Amino acid sequence: MQKLNELYRGKAKTVFTTENPEYLILQFRDDTSAFDGERIEQLARKGMVNNKFNYFIMEKLAAAGIPTQMEKLLSDNECLVKKLAMIPVECVVRNLAAGSLVRRLGVEEGLELNPPTFELFLKNDALHDPMVNESHAIAFGWATAEQLAEMKRLTLAVNNVLKPLFAAGGMLLVDYKLEFGVFNGEIVLGDEFSPDGCRLWDIATRTKLDKDRFRQGLGGVVEAYEEVGKRLGMQFD
Ligand code: ADP
Ligand code: UDP
Repeated sequence: MQKLNELYRGKAKTVFTTENPEYLILQFRDDTSAFDGERIEQLARKGMVNNKFNYFIMEKLAAAGIPTQMEKLLSDNECLVKKLAMIPVECVVRNLAAGSLVRRLGVEEGLELNPPTFELFLKNDALHDPMVNESHAIAFGWATAEQLAEMKRLTLAVNNVLKPLFAAGGMLLVDYKLEFGVFNGEIVLGDEFSPDGCRLWDIATRTKLDKDRFRQGLGGVVEAYEEVGKRLGMQFD
């Protein structure tokens, strides 16, 4: 399937229409952003690594019964996906405290959260993705109560698939963000799952293997993403 027109250029991906109105092409670029787009850098190979990483994870999730956007890996940097009517609310699950939870509640990084927490954030860079709750989402018409219930169910189901997958590769799935959309009336997982949108620590050393390497200026960002992928059995060349 060929790219037709550029529909949207996001911070990390460009979205193209195709001849089929039901499908889009996601092109993963090397751009890496943090702090709601305030800092942007190009990291060689990142687009390719995240595209292949995302495809691998989406296929694992689909095999476990999670409805996903994924149709096909098209090239190093592109995949074909279902065109979803995106819901502008990000779903975040945390198994261990990190990031904004640590800043907001003053708890120690690495504190185990059992059961895992579930949070919603409005996707809005200008407002710095504020935390919202279900009543906001319903009152402002971002999603219905039924859609939110399904998003929560699927987000927690993803944890049950991915926590053991990463554990088998010697990693802790600390937290992750998912975006959903609607396709033919059904809630479907969209966007991407990659180390750009989750936190992964080595189990033994707690070395950070995710985007925190970029946020915190630790270096070796793409190398860490590739290391994660290789530990799960992915091949990048
Ligand atoms: P951002 O918009 O946060 O800068 P990206 O650079 O990743 O993020 O841009 C990708 C955009 O495409 C996002 O706005 C995301 O919500 C949207 N998107 C992802 N998957 C799909 C899909 N399957 N259908 C429609 N839109 C999608
Ligand atoms: N996250 C994301 N996009 C966002 C906000 C968060 O992918 O716009 C991911 C982030 O990488 C982490 C999880 O969601 O894995 C929780 O992020 P947190 O709320 O701690 O915010 P942060 O401190 O990372 O901005």
